[in-house]
Amino acid sequence: MEQHVATAKDNRLTYYVLRRKGMRNMRLRVNDKGQAVVSCSSRVPLERINAFVIKNADWLISELSKIKSEGVLEERKYLTCEKYLFAGKEYMLVVIEGEREYVGTVGDNLALVVKDKNDFERKRKLVDNWYKNKAKELFAERFEYCVNNYREIFPDNYKLSIRQMKARWGTCIINKKTVVLNFKLVYADVRYLDYVIMHELCHFYHKNHDASFYGMLARFIPDYKALRKGLTSYYIRYSHL
Ligand SMILES: [Zn+2]
Repeated sequence: MEQHVATAKDNRLTYYVLRRKGMRNMRLRVNDKGQAVVSCSSRVPLERINAFVIKNADWLISELSKIKSEGVLEERKYLTCEKYLFAGKEYMLVVIEGEREYVGTVGDNLALVVKDKNDFERKRKLVDNWYKNKAKELFAERFEYCVNNYREIFPDNYKLSIRQMKARWGTCIINKKTVVLNFKLVYADVRYLDYVIMHELCHFYHKNHDASFYGMLARFIPDYKALRKGLTSYYIRYSHL
C-alpha cells in the first residue's frame, strides 16, 4: 500500500491508499492494525485523497485516540486480577486451587478453580472450553431471537455455525442456509452479535453489499453504520485472544 501523510489541525495523519479497480466512492477506515486506510479507484489523484482525509480528520483522530485509550488487552497469563471479556462485559479473573475444577462468572468475577494454580496449559484449556460453551449458548440464543423476530421474512430452517475466522465477523453459505459467526464475537456486546447475524441473514436475499442490501439491513438495524465502525475497534483489541 502507498503511504502518505496529511496535515490537519497540527496533526500529522499517516494514511495508506488501497487502489481498487472500478471502485466508485472513496472510503476511509481504520484497519485491524490501527492504520488509516483510504480505498478508492486507481484514477483518483492524490490531492483528492489528501483532501478527503483532511475533511474526515475529526472522525479519524477520534477513532485513533479511542483505540489508544482503550488499549489492547494483554496476552493471557491466567493469573488473578486479569481482565476477561464476555458479551461486552469485563470480568476479573480469580484463580483458586481446588479439587473440583470449574470456570464460571460470579458477579463481576470470573472464577477459575484448578487443581494446580501453576499449570498454565490446564488453565488455558479450562478457560478456552468455558468460552467455547458460552459462545455456543449465547450465539444460539441470539440467532434464534433474530430469526424468530422476523419469521415472515426468514421462514426457512436456518442453521448456525461458529468458527475462528481471521478476516471477517460472519459469512453465510447460501445453499446450506447456514450463517457462520466468528467465535471472537463472544467478547463483544450482543448488539454487535445481532448486527452480524442480521447482516448475514440479509445476504439470503441480497448477495452483494449494494444499496438494496443496506436498505434491508437498515430496516432491522437502523444504526448499523455505527455498529460496523465499533466492531473495527473491537477487532483491534481482541483479535489476538
Ligand atoms: Zn456481508
